[in-house]
Amino acid sequence: MIFRVARGADRLFELPMPPLAIDALVVSCEHAGNRVPERYRAAFQTARATAALESHRGYDLGALFVAETLAKRFAAELIYSDVSRLVVEFNKSIGHPKLMSEFTRHLDRTAREVLLRDHYFPHRERVEAAVRRHVTGGRTTLHLGIHSFAPTLGGRVRQAEIGLLYDPQRAQEKELCARWRRSICSLAPELRVRRNYPYRGDADGLTTTLRRVFPPEAYLGIEVELNQALTASAGEAREALTEVLGEALAAQRRCSV
Ligand SMILES: [Zn+2]
Repeated sequence: MIFRVARGADRLFELPMPPLAIDALVVSCEHAGNRVPERYRAAFQTARATAALESHRGYDLGALFVAETLAKRFAAELIYSDVSRLVVEFNKSIGHPKLMSEFTRHLDRTAREVLLRDHYFPHRERVEAAVRRHVTGGRTTLHLGIHSFAPTLGGRVRQAEIGLLYDPQRAQEKELCARWRRSICSLAPELRVRRNYPYRGDADGLTTTLRRVFPPEAYLGIEVELNQALTASAGEAREALTEVLGEALAAQRRCSV
């Protein structure tokens, strides 16, 4: 039998894509809020600190709404932290220069250690534990880290509504993002969906850390970056975006060939 790949009217038949076998979903939101725990309030007393907390630097505007909605839709576990990323950056590894912001990096060593112990490690460990529960049960797990980004940064306009961040070395992640992107584009052609934009999926982050813990056949870690032009305020735009993301992801469910 000769399989012929043809385009256009003379196509003989289409070969279905190999099915992606994903059994479980975990949703996380590392920058869900801008809360400053009592213990660290003194470091955030200035007007500059208050302004930073309220801005995109303080948290990912609208990300928690999207994370909650998607988790509910797929009956997935949601893990989020509402402590501001300016207190501690949950999506950076220990040792990263941006782990602590200009407001907390000058705390004394003990205070920094307590901060990591009380907030940073518990969040990261909860996400890892949720993935581990599925993986040890033999379930291939998709972990979605939901984030949002500022429409402009440093005077540059970001050219996308949705960014899907993955590790190009992980074939399953790459394939899922390609498919997810296609589905989003067919449902809502006006949305610009870019891969590994505005950041690289293999840069330092929670998914990158978890890829070192779990093998590719057990763990797919995707960061979803959403433009705050759509997510920042409650309303139709944010709801429509979330609906499209969910609908397009649902279309990727395991299918039989
Ligand atoms: Zn984020």
